[in-house]
Amino acid sequence: MPGPIYSFGDYLKQRFAVKVHKVTVNADFTCPNIDGTRGRGGCIYCNNVSFNPNTQRKEPDIDAQIEAGRQIVRKRTGAGKVLAYFQAYSNTYAPIEKLQSLYEQALQCPDVVGLVIGTRPDCVAGEVLDLLASYQQQGYEIWLEYGLQSAHDETLERINRGHSFAEYRDTVIATRKRGLKVCTHLILGLPGEDRGMMLETLARVREVGTDGIKLHPLHVVRHTMLAYKWRKGDIHLLAQPEYVSLVCDMLERMPASWVVHRLTGTASEDLLLAPEWCVRKWAVINAVYAEMNRRGCRQGDAIEESRQMPLTINSVKHLDSALSC
Ligand code: SF4
Repeated sequence: MPGPIYSFGDYLKQRFAVKVHKVTVNADFTCPNIDGTRGRGGCIYCNNVSFNPNTQRKEPDIDAQIEAGRQIVRKRTGAGKVLAYFQAYSNTYAPIEKLQSLYEQALQCPDVVGLVIGTRPDCVAGEVLDLLASYQQQGYEIWLEYGLQSAHDETLERINRGHSFAEYRDTVIATRKRGLKVCTHLILGLPGEDRGMMLETLARVREVGTDGIKLHPLHVVRHTMLAYKWRKGDIHLLAQPEYVSLVCDMLERMPASWVVHRLTGTASEDLLLAPEWCVRKWAVINAVYAEMNRRGCRQGDAIEESRQMPLTINSVKHLDSALSC
């Protein structure tokens, strides 16, 4: 781990001999928390356009999307290989035949070395995990990104997530049992949560086990239930120093082997209502590194190895690959 944080960039450098970057793919999925299967209206903060500005583009041609993205990242970053990132909505929410066709279209594109699949923990069937595990066995890099946001069921209810912590736990266990890697998404500053609750969420995620983490501040975007509540004055948002301090508290308490995929999140300026500091993503990331340095600490410093997640086959593989590269 070159810096105080084991970033996804560090992981990719160790895993691959060449530079690898993600390319976002929009496969036109929907979400069971929007279409009525699990709920209606979606999570209170959800305006999916804000996650991925390409969401409105109805572009079914996976090859064309990947090729366009590949050209852009090659020019911008020099990356020679890419991971196809199925990001918008719930990217396991379709019949297995359709999923197989979409995933394999992506894997067959030039320079694609794997998939990153963003989804909800309550809509991942065992047969989908088996399919993804078969790609991993062929040597592809496969990550499942599960939105958890909070381990507290009362919070999940408050934000209309439509699933419980137990569903997350069972899905993560089923995923990691197959040797697939999991990245868990958490939101800091959710309504009704204090620092203790957020750190408890991290402790529960640690108990279950994960391979990576994404942290985001709660932010308000247009055309959401959260925006309505925020305008009424019902929502307290974290200030940047509070957020940075919380992120560092979490980093100190997470295993050094976890890959940190993201330290902050934002939306485009035309959609973001608050907090305005979210827009300056790099200022937030730099502040997190500065705070870690000020504390003189590294990821995992506040936990003992013995209290970290039990080593599964997957995490052993992960550590092996990290050390051997
Ligand atoms: S699970 Fe994702 S896509 Fe579905 S409503 Fe929530 S944030 Fe939106």
